[in-house]
Amino acid sequence: MLKRSEVKLEETWDLSPLFETEQAFEEAIKTVLEISNQMEEEFKGKIDNAKQVVSVLTAYQNLYEKMVPISTYSSLSLSEDQTNDEAQMRSAKVGQHYSKISAQLSFITSELLQLNEDVLTEAKKLAPQFKHYIDDVLRQKPYQLHPEAEKALAAFGSTFNGPYELYNTTKLVDMKFDNFEVNGESYPLSYNSFEGDWELESDTAIRRAAFEAFSSKLRDYQHTTAKTYDNHLKIEKTDADLRGFNSVFDALLFDQKVDRELYNRQIDLITTELAPHMRRYAKLLQKVHGLEKMTFADLKISLDPTYEPKISIEESRQYMLDGLAVMGEDYQNMLNRSFDERWIDFAQNQGKSTGAFCSSPYGYHPYILISWTSRMNEVFVLAHELGHAGHFYLAHSEQNIFNSRPSLYFIEAPSTMNEMLMANHLLANSNDPRFKRWVISTIVARTYYHNFVTHLLEAAYQRKVYEIIDEGGSVNASILNQIKRNVLEEFWGDSVEITEGAELTWMRQPHYYMGLYPYTYSAGLTIATQVSQRILQEGETAVQDWIKVLKTGGTKTPVELAKMAGVDITTDQPLKDTIAYIGSLIDQLEQLTNELVEETKA
Ligand SMILES: [Zn+2]
Repeated sequence: MLKRSEVKLEETWDLSPLFETEQAFEEAIKTVLEISNQMEEEFKGKIDNAKQVVSVLTAYQNLYEKMVPISTYSSLSLSEDQTNDEAQMRSAKVGQHYSKISAQLSFITSELLQLNEDVLTEAKKLAPQFKHYIDDVLRQKPYQLHPEAEKALAAFGSTFNGPYELYNTTKLVDMKFDNFEVNGESYPLSYNSFEGDWELESDTAIRRAAFEAFSSKLRDYQHTTAKTYDNHLKIEKTDADLRGFNSVFDALLFDQKVDRELYNRQIDLITTELAPHMRRYAKLLQKVHGLEKMTFADLKISLDPTYEPKISIEESRQYMLDGLAVMGEDYQNMLNRSFDERWIDFAQNQGKSTGAFCSSPYGYHPYILISWTSRMNEVFVLAHELGHAGHFYLAHSEQNIFNSRPSLYFIEAPSTMNEMLMANHLLANSNDPRFKRWVISTIVARTYYHNFVTHLLEAAYQRKVYEIIDEGGSVNASILNQIKRNVLEEFWGDSVEITEGAELTWMRQPHYYMGLYPYTYSAGLTIATQVSQRILQEGETAVQDWIKVLKTGGTKTPVELAKMAGVDITTDQPLKDTIAYIGSLIDQLEQLTNELVEETKA
């Protein structure tokens, strides 16, 4: 694995639009600290009329826009190489400064909430661009603490983020994998190579040995990681209690603007109704690969491993342009810019964050992190991340910084939508049954597996963990292992053997440090599946509706956004339809597999 300093420049992202030099970055920090001081002096204790409300929010908007590139720069430069000392220190410093600013300015929310509602109504009339922000502040009123308590909590902001940083440090800096051996041959192992390659390896002996070596290294760190996670849970629970929420679930769902019913529905319906389809899929994999038994370590293998087209980074551009063409010209321009202006970090190097993500700083173009393996299925990963990019590219062009970000519940809809568009495009342009089977199996094995199985089982596990925390309990490694194992066993039944080591899967996802995030993947993909069907059937009108939804940013709730796109998520019908659709994809896989077997015989 290359060091960051050894990778090709053209495979890295260009962070210079954020800051040309380290000096410019340092100066920007100085500026925001000064603005924050000035704001305290000018407004603290003085927000007493509508005009002052507008003035302070205008100043805050300006400050917020200046803070965005600083935090983006520090977090992206760390994510490209977590072993970089300089980036670690830079990020820690920004965290400290930002906690200080948010403590210093916590009076804004406190003073707004002490005002008579008439004053706020007048402020909304004077400056309609702040209506959404003010309404959100008002929503918080029942859970707001004494101003001095708010200030003290804000001052601990970066400390409260400590567990997540510790998790990443353990995983990406301290954890070192030894080579593993199969039949006298030695193979290198790392977090990224396990998740990007070995887990998908078609040689069963190598794949299972990699799983064992990977799990055994995770096991060495299970107690530290569990303790870290338990600390994070305690912070969330204490915050929920202090603010007077009935439960930690209500506190975490409050920001998402959805109720418990929508949350529970995803987990309950999918674990029961999707499981039979996915067990069929596991059986099909087992049959095609001639495996004596199907284990947890085998679930990521491709249905047709000898048919995994390779694709270069340059070729991927054309796939994006063709696959997402239906989104229109403006979107195509964005796609071209993302390649021409190096928005995307493709390189594989030591210390790089695992998986893929998109960061969309307001006032700048989006950035995408991915570790390119040249497997064809990366076109789906890239289409997914470009879906986030396109979402914020459009939302930022229409909305101010306070209005641009929708609820977490909706975040994965535009991204998974692009995966569906890509699949539809590939299927429409080929009659080759083998290619068709590859495309469908990729949607099942990647898009649906990832969003409806991996993340959903994380959500089912997470719900059990929070139930314990809500009762005032704690967790440790053996409790977490047990919960995880139970969830996996319930879902897969006797169709898959839950290999020793699978119970440690809870150690792999950073999502647990982001509240009730895992379940939103299936929620987003439910919306995306339904809208992509609409696009297939209705074409342009459905596309236009969707673009309008993306431009709406955060000014509407998830239920309203889905409704704008023609999907009613107040009922369980869209989810049931989506599960049925996944079932139909697995039917097609079984049928195409039979046809291909017949063909070989003939
Ligand atoms: Zn995503």
